[in-house]
Amino acid sequence: MSAIKEPTFRESTEIMFNRAVRLMDLSPGLVEKIRVCNATYKVNFGVRLRGDFHTFTGYRSVHSEHMEPVKGGIRYALSVDQDEVEALASLMTYKCALVETPFGGAKGGLCIDPRDWEENELEQITRRFAYELIKRDLINPAQNVPAPDMGTGEREMAWIADQYLRMNTTDINNRACVTGKPLNAGGIAGRVEATGRGVQYALQEFFRHPKDMEMAGLTGTLKGKNIIVQGLGNVGYHAAKFLSEEDEAKVIAVLEFDGAITNPDGINIEDLKSHILATGSIKSFDGGIYHAESSPSMELDCDILIPAAMESVINLENADRIKAKMIIEAANGPVTAGADEILRNKGVVIIPDLYANAGGVTVSYFEWVKNLSHIRFGRMQRRQEETRHRLLIEELESIEGNHLSDRFKQKYLHGAGELDLVRSGLDDTMRAAYQAISEKWHSSEEITDMRTAAFLVSIERVAKSYRTKGL
Ligand code: GLU
Repeated sequence: MSAIKEPTFRESTEIMFNRAVRLMDLSPGLVEKIRVCNATYKVNFGVRLRGDFHTFTGYRSVHSEHMEPVKGGIRYALSVDQDEVEALASLMTYKCALVETPFGGAKGGLCIDPRDWEENELEQITRRFAYELIKRDLINPAQNVPAPDMGTGEREMAWIADQYLRMNTTDINNRACVTGKPLNAGGIAGRVEATGRGVQYALQEFFRHPKDMEMAGLTGTLKGKNIIVQGLGNVGYHAAKFLSEEDEAKVIAVLEFDGAITNPDGINIEDLKSHILATGSIKSFDGGIYHAESSPSMELDCDILIPAAMESVINLENADRIKAKMIIEAANGPVTAGADEILRNKGVVIIPDLYANAGGVTVSYFEWVKNLSHIRFGRMQRRQEETRHRLLIEELESIEGNHLSDRFKQKYLHGAGELDLVRSGLDDTMRAAYQAISEKWHSSEEITDMRTAAFLVSIERVAKSYRTKGL
């Protein structure tokens, strides 16, 4: 163990924020206004379960209201405390600014291990927590819009949406009070995969920037690159699946809480996920070698390391031993400030969380807009687009000797449905944000890393909106 004390998650985030603001010309007062968390609401509520009262502690933290509603997930985990939700809420502010979703930053959490409770009990706990937040406008389509995070998903969001509707029966925009809902309850196609998809689009864009690749000592494309994925939850699973199946990268190690699987020839992610779902564990999977202790597998030689679970998994203790050429932070805060410095000095390129995992909130934005407009994306245009394309094809084929291949015709005739539009909007968002970061990174010798560049782009935008807002 290192003798140097590891800062807390919130302190780590502030250290990273401070590294960026010292390169900016902002008044100390404005810096402080942006840095601090505006408010954190803590609630202890009781639910009668299993014949007794059980008290739960939940939080909703609002970091910045320079834009409203404020946005950010609600997590269910035993690690939840004020420090954690405040760090996560601040990251939401910077994340939203970076990908230009018109939201301030917030985060919520319930200190609970969801595996300890049955589904109907979780529903009662969730509805009671939601009630506490809704009655204080801490869940509201115009003010504060939660989403899934660690330990929560579509199911919890559906309960929250329904609880809001029960308490606001005449609010026509009720569905926009929370995102990440199931499709049949006002959700949007592509939200579940969105964060993992965003990680894929971020890496694809990185590999379109030769200068950035050079900084990491990488050449070529994603094809054949060795990848390690830490955490095969929703984000890690989708990122690993898309990168291996569509970009032909090789996932050589997957780490989970109960061990790791390694395979130098590449792990079949779909098979591994099915195995975990069927058996509840990564153990006894026959598509690779099982290791009971997972952490050493994170230190294997690889091109890209994707931490996709908890914060602080790369820290002062193990940073020196990480051999990846680049890290993409699919989780929030997986690298501590101390580890960040060690890795930077080693020349490891880190694509930071505030950009790398912003795919989730980007598609949440699309869902919120869909809920407010009360119509599915593509519903009006799709068939009309197909008709116009068909006209063109018929006209071209009527010219003597002109024949278009069936493959071309099929692709060209396909009018964009909601999923196509969501993916296209997400890809465009991830590309534009990457370009802004990369440009900033190379604009001055003083900006030595992508995290600082991302913070700079983001803080500049937040500062601009505070200036025009009037406090
Ligand atoms: N919980 C996700 C995050 O940390 C999504 C937030 C949202 O969609 O509002 O970015």
